[in-house]
Amino acid sequence: MGKNKVILVTGGTGLVGKAIQHIVELENLPDEKWIFLSSKDGDLCDYQATKKIFETHCPTHVIHLAAMVGGLFHNMAHNLDFLRNNLHMNDNILQISYESRVEKVVSCLSTCIFPDKTQYPIDETMVHNGPPHPSNFGYSYAKRMIDIQNKAYHEQHGCMFTSVIPCNVFGPHDNYNPESSHVIPGLIKKLHDIIEKGGDTFTVMGTGKPLRQFIYSVDLAKLFLWVLRNYQEVEPIILSVDENSEVTIKELAEEIAQAFNFKGTIVFDTTKADGQYKKTASNAKLRKYLPDFQFTPFSLAMKESVNWYRENHEIARN
Ligand code: NAP
Ligand code: GDP
Repeated sequence: MGKNKVILVTGGTGLVGKAIQHIVELENLPDEKWIFLSSKDGDLCDYQATKKIFETHCPTHVIHLAAMVGGLFHNMAHNLDFLRNNLHMNDNILQISYESRVEKVVSCLSTCIFPDKTQYPIDETMVHNGPPHPSNFGYSYAKRMIDIQNKAYHEQHGCMFTSVIPCNVFGPHDNYNPESSHVIPGLIKKLHDIIEKGGDTFTVMGTGKPLRQFIYSVDLAKLFLWVLRNYQEVEPIILSVDENSEVTIKELAEEIAQAFNFKGTIVFDTTKADGQYKKTASNAKLRKYLPDFQFTPFSLAMKESVNWYRENHEIARN
């Protein structure tokens, strides 16, 4: 990036947005002005409201994080809302970025949008190879369309619109609401409340057998900044921990229990859904660019995330 960039971050108040803000404040680069948007600045599903935001800030670069986001159970109950809200937001951001001659847009896909029936490990070439898992098809198809739009804007107008594909993310400032949260914030809040009430049984939904790769939001933020400044492809890039860092939900629950120093019993409610069994993603493309990138060890990242919630649970999104 050259001189005097104005970088607009949609979804700047969320899990990933807050982590990017944290890194940017540490860097404090003089030629970059950063704007972190909340939904209070305007509803990005609304074209006119979005246009107004772009006219106010005149961004040269956009990191597009804003989305209707949620865990397995929230997706299962609201596939239509996930589809429509995300289609509208993404279409507005990309079209207005084109109209405003934004130099680069980095949008966010997810490893949970890949085909349900696939070969492993999943890589960037497989995004459109078959139907997604039925539990989150609304979110998945809306996210997949970003990649299609990026290619079309590039082909027809020469735009540099690209996307990243993170695995499951966790860290401070997550969404802890049990109705809509992902598994890590959901279990952190649950165990925090159990301990406060003096309970000794930690119930985890599903069989505990599904496998997931989890990236710490602070690590993802550093990779996002590298993509914004250095990655020159329209094709997406997977931002994930290594394949051998994949853990079962059972191992995850044990890690959370350890971070809380919880000595009670962990039980599994097998009447609840497991969702996709696994979605093991390859970070070979990332490793080709950044062979030496060091991910924060899982236990340390979990400890920091649990400590953040302990200290901030009153102001957290519960
Ligand atoms: P998050 O914590 O739920 O934050 C969502 C952000 O989007 C918030 O800043 C929210 O604003 C904003 N937003 C939602 N609806 C909006 C609307 N209609 N208009 C304007 N802003 C709106 O999400 P996250 O976990 O940081 O996710 C960031 C990106 O990463 C998303 O694109 C998501 O799909 C992707 N991703 C997340 C994960 C994960 O595990 N969390 C994994 C892979 C990919 P307010 O809070 O101000 O309302
Ligand atoms: P996914 O990775 O997109 O499927 O989303 P989640 O972050 O919601 O992870 C879902 C996995 O964690 C499933 O196997 C669930 O059965 C399991 N799980 C266990 N307890 C919870 C919980 O309290 N909330 C959520 N969202 N998932 C849970």
